[in-house]
This record gives sequence, structure tokens and C-alpha cells, in this order.
Amino acid sequence: MRGVSADQHPLVLGVDVGGTKVAVGALERGAITARTEQPTVLDGPDALLDGIEAAVDEVVARTGAPAAIGAGIPSQIEFATGTVLSSVNIPLEGVALRDELSARLGVPAVVDNDANCAALAEADSLPGSNIVMLTLGTGVGGGVVIDGRIFRGSSGLGAELGHVVIDENGPPCPGSCPNRGCLEAFCSGTALERDAMQVAEDRPDTHLGRVVAEHGEVKGKHVVQAAEAGDPHALDLFERLGRQLGVGIASLVNAFEPEHVVIGGGLGRAADYYQARAEREASIRALPALWERTRVSRAAKGADAGMFGAGLLALQELGRSRDTSAPTRGEAR
Ligand SMILES: [Zn+2]
Repeated sequence: MRGVSADQHPLVLGVDVGGTKVAVGALERGAITARTEQPTVLDGPDALLDGIEAAVDEVVARTGAPAAIGAGIPSQIEFATGTVLSSVNIPLEGVALRDELSARLGVPAVVDNDANCAALAEADSLPGSNIVMLTLGTGVGGGVVIDGRIFRGSSGLGAELGHVVIDENGPPCPGSCPNRGCLEAFCSGTALERDAMQVAEDRPDTHLGRVVAEHGEVKGKHVVQAAEAGDPHALDLFERLGRQLGVGIASLVNAFEPEHVVIGGGLGRAADYYQARAEREASIRALPALWERTRVSRAAKGADAGMFGAGLLALQELGRSRDTSAPTRGEAR
């Protein structure tokens, strides 16, 4: 890797490991210059790591060796060691992933939660350097970027904004959270499907009732389709989701005073049906001086956010490791 430290625009790789696919992108001068996507191998840690390595090798064959690699995964990471502490959707629990990737690929590696990577990617495309991101998917992920860097808490497990409580008596939180009434219990795809199922059971003669009669269940996409068709019950579900999201956003604005609150994730693409309601609710509830300085926007990086952010993280870590003998910008002030 000689010569890398003198390179102002090093080539890095960003890896986004999802429950269904592994995406690898080469990031150079702020743009993705080569990429590949492979199905995620879920047979076990070794098979999954082999799959990641193969995808990386495919990109490296086109770009040459990178200076560093960043990986975002849907798991809880102890950032200092790059160890996966908990992982529900992919079999990496207990794996020292940073060291494993670094050894397999022969370059420095950095590993973070995928929501953190997505937040870093979105922050990169927005003016200002303080953002709060909410990723509305199966669950609700959170990411906080402060002064251009990911805020992780003391060991890397922090910023689980999906588990901010907005109603102490609310429904049980899905997944492994012991709490109730969290944002995730109201504004996730799982919560939307739960509420849509309730509508379908109460009113079998409605659009959502007919979906359940036909498919045996109702998925988030069905609720979106029903809303697109003007179904009042689906629109009502999104109205409620928006209101509850707004309650959460007000608290996050008060806590962080971000320049932007960014809404992303699979359900983020349906924001037409709830974003305005969420903003109205937040505007009523947040402290006025803070709300005035905050904008709510939609994720701009789309499906590439995790991959792009993982690459940016690798760049940041490269910069940081080079800065050990020189003061950082912040310290020099
Ligand atoms: Zn929770």
C-alpha cells in the first residue's frame, strides 16, 4: 500500500451487506466508479464472508486494490473493535468482522451499522453537517451525524432512534426491544402492516380487507397501492403514521437541533402520504427556535446510501489514521 498516504483521492470500497443482497461499490473522487451486487449467502458466517470477499474481488479486478474498505451491516457493532455484537438478519453475531475483512482483503477495514452509513451518505449530499436520519423499513433505524461525523455513543451502539418512545402506553415494540410505544412500534413497516391487518379484520368489505382475503396478509406495498388508489382507510393509516412520526421528530429536533431530518428506507419512498402530516405535527410540538432552523427532507441517495456511506466512512478512517501525527482541524482551532 505504499504511496497511499500521499494520495489525496484514494480509491476506497463501500460494502452494503443487506438481508438479501451484498452491494459493493468503488468510490473515487466522490463518485461510484464500479459496482456489483450479489445475493447474500445466509448459510453461516464463513459462507457469508466468502460471498462478500467474492463480490469485493469482482470489483477489485476492475479497479485495482483500494486503500481501505468500509462495510455497513444491519447489526449492532462494537465500533472500536469492529465486532458484531448482535445480528438478527444475517449470521455474523460474535464475528470480529473488521479484522476478518481486513485479513481476507489485505487492506484496512472499518465496519459500522448500515443506518449510520446511510446517514453519513445523506449528510454528504446536504448543506450543513448536522443531520438526523430515520430509516423507515421493516423496523425504524436511526443515524445521527454531528459536525460531519457519525455519532455512535460510547461503544458504537448508540443512536437507536427507532426506540425513542412517543407513547408510554403504546403497542409493544416489534423485534427484541422490551419497550412499548417506540417510534418503531408506530412508524415501521411492521407496525403499518399490523394496523392494516386490523383494518382488514374489522372491515372485510374494504380495499385492505379484500387484499387479506386474496393474499392471506397485507404488506406495506399493499397499503401504498391502496393509498395510491385513494382508499380512505389506507390514507388514514398514513395520516396516523405521519402524526406519530411528527411527535418523534419534534423530540429529535429538540435534542439535536439538526439542520436536516432525513427520512429514508423502503417506507421513505411513500413519504408523499405522510411527510406533510409529520412536519405539521413536529412544527406544533418542537421548540419554535429549533424548529425554525430545521428542514425535513427525503433521502436522496436511494438504494446506494449504505454502500456510498460505507465508502465515505473508509475515507474518514483513512484520514483519521493519517492524522495521528498532525492535529485535526477541530483541534487546531
Ligand atoms: Zn423499541
